[in-house]
Amino acid sequence: MTEISLSLQSGASKQFPQGISAAAALKELVSAKECKGIVAVRCKEGLRDLSAPLMEDAVLEPVLLRSEAGLEILRHSTAHIMALAVKELYGEQVKVAIGPAIEDGFYYDFDRDKPFSPDEFEVIEAKMREMIKARLPFLRREMKREEAIAFFRERGEVYKVELLQDLDAETVSIYSQGSFIDLCRGPHVPDSSWIQVFKLLRVAGSYWRGDEKRPMLTRIYGTAFADKKDLQDYLHRLEEARKRDHRKLGKQLGLFTIQDQIGPGLILWQPRGALLRRLIEDYWKDEHYRHGYQLLYTPHIARQDMWKTSGHLDFYSENMYAPMEVEEVLYQLKPMNCPFHIGVFNAERHSYREFPIRWCELGTVYRYERTGALHGLMRVRGFTQDDAHIFCLPDQLEAEIFNIIDLNLHILRTFGFDQYDIYLSTRPEKYVGSEDHWERATQALKQALEKKGLAYQIDPGEGVFYGPKIDIKIKDQLGRSWQCSTIQVDFNLPERFQMRYTGEDGGEHQPIMIHRALMGSLERFIGVLIEHYAGAFPLWLAPEQARILNITDAQAGYCQQVYERLRTLGLRIEQDLRNEKLNYKIREAQLMKVPYMLVVGEREKEEGTVTVRRRNGENLPAMTPEAFLDLVAEECKQRQACV
Ligand SMILES: [Zn+2]
Ligand SMILES: [Zn+2]
Repeated sequence: MTEISLSLQSGASKQFPQGISAAAALKELVSAKECKGIVAVRCKEGLRDLSAPLMEDAVLEPVLLRSEAGLEILRHSTAHIMALAVKELYGEQVKVAIGPAIEDGFYYDFDRDKPFSPDEFEVIEAKMREMIKARLPFLRREMKREEAIAFFRERGEVYKVELLQDLDAETVSIYSQGSFIDLCRGPHVPDSSWIQVFKLLRVAGSYWRGDEKRPMLTRIYGTAFADKKDLQDYLHRLEEARKRDHRKLGKQLGLFTIQDQIGPGLILWQPRGALLRRLIEDYWKDEHYRHGYQLLYTPHIARQDMWKTSGHLDFYSENMYAPMEVEEVLYQLKPMNCPFHIGVFNAERHSYREFPIRWCELGTVYRYERTGALHGLMRVRGFTQDDAHIFCLPDQLEAEIFNIIDLNLHILRTFGFDQYDIYLSTRPEKYVGSEDHWERATQALKQALEKKGLAYQIDPGEGVFYGPKIDIKIKDQLGRSWQCSTIQVDFNLPERFQMRYTGEDGGEHQPIMIHRALMGSLERFIGVLIEHYAGAFPLWLAPEQARILNITDAQAGYCQQVYERLRTLGLRIEQDLRNEKLNYKIREAQLMKVPYMLVVGEREKEEGTVTVRRRNGENLPAMTPEAFLDLVAEECKQRQACV
């Protein structure tokens, strides 16, 4: 009998008969106690089932159920058990599509005449528990692809047949658990009893393969955890996120609207949202001016020929909208601002003495996104990038990157984001520019990060084809990560557009180009801000900083005077002089998350003061309108998140 040698990374190693299962081998290699928490193994080929027969020498890495990979296996396996329960309950009425694990959970897409509703969760969960109790093993088997097609066709599973037809493999693996058989790569938990803590969460419509022309399926989302407490914490976080949902708050606070008649993914900013946006834009512009940038404005369309020169038609056309014809010339909406800034550069001759040149623009671009992928402000079809392009000399690159990071973190901190993950992406397989250029640019990015004392991870080969980049993901109040900032070195466009400057040596040279966006897009950033602050913006950002409320009609005239005086002095103030109970008016102002309420009764009117109430309910002593203005000015200067 052939023997194989199996070992752990820790060093433990033993000889075993060929074909032994990973589970049996682990029993010999680790303690019984440790063994209990292991759900799968990782070896050279990737993740394997515990029941997988091992045929050659290998180093095994146990995968614990509690680990990230372990939870993914658990969740994916739970999706199978949900599909089994659904098939047991509804039989041939239901066809199954796909059921992967996703971040924090899983889903399965089903095709049924009548879409599933959350009312059915109880029945499905009960059936799942029954299946879990039965300790059904997940059994793996390999089949020829053709054989599998015939197998699923006979069972009426048309979606599986289509998936198989598109697969480029001779053999495929299928898994059975109880009566349910699924096409799947695996791995899974050994048997259904491993699934103890799970919950079905919601349903959503989902087009087969994300294609609006294909059937609409019901997607049932669920999650599973290794223990109850983790599930409870997760449900609590979900509830918090639901309360902060920017689409809900956007409506409640009158910030923005999206309408079918206008078109999906196109944002209409309502007055309060527009004001919030203007405050952000003004701050952004001032900071850029202070940091040596100049502001540009450029058009929304350009000749198609220009997009040929820039390479967008070759590399980016699926994100661009169809051309329009103007006097027999084709034009296209811009998906990026870069070529326009290059146009400004190429309008004049440049000498090395002018560098670095830093140009910024709040540039509105249009990119195609599938309707199904659109999501509030986070994923839209028209958005405004807080874009900038820096043109510099090779020996200025590092210092410029350093300055960009500096400004970047300064601006993020002002908005209350002081936790982030930083990624440095290096040269991919396909690239333009010389290896030497890449090396020097990558070093410059690294040096700048290190000089700044910032921790970062390297994403090898994940750079864009035209240059290396730094991405910064910010963490919000709930600990969720959002990709916002990106800093990219570009060797491609300066070449394509023949950008030149006269060097110290009198010869013609090509400048280095850096693209960067700090917030990413105003739409998305404001979406993140709404959720980060749960709609309660700090005073410097609040579209309405204060609301003046009278107790009775007798103070209406005085209120009007105070309102006008403060508004003239620049305070963003509104008034509510309706003949309603004061408590009612206070509640409404609180719902609109107005930072300050100025309450006026007879005494205030006589003394020429206002009584100041914070949105958290805290009362400040009565003060003159001018004293209140000083208080506001001081708080805005701090730019801190306030209650
Ligand atoms: Zn599976
Ligand atoms: Zn650019």
